[in-house]
Amino acid sequence: MTHLLIIGGSDAGISAALRACEVDSTVEVTVVVGDAFPNYSICGLPFYLSGEVPEWQLLAHRTVAEIEAQGIALRLSERAEEIDPRQHVVQVCDQAGQRHQLTYDRLVIATGAIPIRPSLPGLDAPGVYCLHTMADSFAVHQHLMEQAPQSAIIIGGGYIGLEMADALTLRGLQVTLLQRGASILKTLDPQLSQLVSLELEEHGIRVRTGQVVEGFERRGTQMQVYTSAGMKYSADLVLVAVGVQPDTALAQTAGVHLGEHEALAVTRQMETNVEAIYAAGDCVETWHRLLQRSTYLPLGTTAHKQGRIAGENAVGGQRLFAGSLGTQVVKVFDLACARTGLTEAEARAAGFDPWTQDVETWDHKRYYPGATALHLRVTGDRQSGRLLGAQIVGHWQAEVAKRIDIFATALFHGMTIDALSELDLSYTPPLSSPWDPVQMAAQAWRPRETKEASA
Ligand SMILES: Cc1cc2nc3c(=O)[nH]c(=O)nc-3n(C[C@H](O)[C@H](O)[C@H](O)COP(=O)(O)OP(=O)(O)OC[C@H]3O[C@@H](n4cnc5c(N)ncnc54)[C@H](O)[C@@H]3O)c2cc1C
Repeated sequence: MTHLLIIGGSDAGISAALRACEVDSTVEVTVVVGDAFPNYSICGLPFYLSGEVPEWQLLAHRTVAEIEAQGIALRLSERAEEIDPRQHVVQVCDQAGQRHQLTYDRLVIATGAIPIRPSLPGLDAPGVYCLHTMADSFAVHQHLMEQAPQSAIIIGGGYIGLEMADALTLRGLQVTLLQRGASILKTLDPQLSQLVSLELEEHGIRVRTGQVVEGFERRGTQMQVYTSAGMKYSADLVLVAVGVQPDTALAQTAGVHLGEHEALAVTRQMETNVEAIYAAGDCVETWHRLLQRSTYLPLGTTAHKQGRIAGENAVGGQRLFAGSLGTQVVKVFDLACARTGLTEAEARAAGFDPWTQDVETWDHKRYYPGATALHLRVTGDRQSGRLLGAQIVGHWQAEVAKRIDIFATALFHGMTIDALSELDLSYTPPLSSPWDPVQMAAQAWRPRETKEASA
């Protein structure tokens, strides 16, 4: 009987455990989880903090009992400290400080990522928070409930910063969003991210770009944030959401190599360089399907897939990770903002000859009530006509996610933009048009004609 030990009990770790049990009913699976919250949807934390999800317990993908019913042994609130790959032993420390040794035949490392904490004066002051774990969300929640803050500064205009700007506004706080670069939501091109800035401002958020934070200071009940532009911002609460970095420290005790993005290097079978050790999720580099090389794309969707593959292969499978396209979507107030594949700049850097077409159209037939504008940006290769990427911003009920997923499916299968017109997509006037907006955008993509016209 194989004994599979998994370190990390979130998206990747639990996916690995469940898949291993599906594939091999005799496997003995133990999952060591650093906290008391196995298989929680940390993607849902902003919605718990906004109050839209009233109880944090609702964020559990599965309960402890449901996981254990699959025959999986959970060791909660225990941290793995060191791996001895020669003896196949992991040293763990429990909450009481007791150390134990766990042996394994196969090991899956799924330690995830940790939020980047810039080394700035005052960052550790009370009232300054990050948001990555359930414990982080409890700390923010406690501040909201006990101190009734009126204002917040969010540092970082990525998707977590935007979701939290929305969440804290819903809770009645005046939010200021500080972004280092010239535009927010860098996963989109400025042509579309400026629509998101407008949406934030329409909901009362002060968006300040070009603000490099230099330090924090507590003044009475308020936090002050200083930026290199000589500005000073004050609020009752500060949230730092400037990205994550892979949590690789434990794996490195076993001699697992890092890749060029400082995450664990793995094969497409999710194997590390160390015998019997697999890794998956936010701690590893991700195979990019279009670029055909490793990148770092920490996403819950990817963590689930990689975990499933690591679990299957750890019990004898041979499955390959098909690769990520970085497909993602975020809801910001009334907008949904989505992308898949490459932006034009990324495509050019990767050696393609990209052309990008912007299209604005209605999400469904205009004569049916409630039609809203959809903004699409489609990038393809001028030489081959191959689809390289797409971005969409529109009302959150305008099927933005469905439409980006059509592009993602086309990208996955290497389709040309022209071929999108041939897809048999659904239509009824309240939901779409005979040509879906995806197809309208594909038909508008005409790089050569435009080139000739301008010649
Ligand atoms: C606020 C927020 C919103 C998000 N929204 C989205 C979204 O909408 N869509 C999306 O695709 N992604 C989203 N993500 C990203 C997604 O949550 C992550 O990509 C995903 O959780 C990664 O899963 P993971 O299992 O690799 O790592 P993590 O979720 O980071 O989990 C790591 C696990 O390892 C454990 N661990 C770490 N070190 C040790 C140790 N030494 N010993 C024992 N256990 C250890 C931890 O306790 C935890 O159980 C969001 C993330 C956040 C923070």
